[in-house]
Amino acid sequence: MDETSTIACPYCNSETLVILDGVDGDIDLVSDCENCCRPINVRATVEHGVVVSIQVE
Ligand SMILES: [Zn+2]
Repeated sequence: MDETSTIACPYCNSETLVILDGVDGDIDLVSDCENCCRPINVRATVEHGVVVSIQVE
């Protein structure tokens, strides 16, 4: 199962998609913005395949 979520890029403010890879629990990953290609640090919490919280910095 691939869980995806849409976030707003902190650099250019455009929406970009992150793939959370079907992992459960706390996730820390770096996703490149589709628009400006800068790396975005994403922290997410997934419980039973549902994204309960997602933060970008
Ligand atoms: Zn961007």
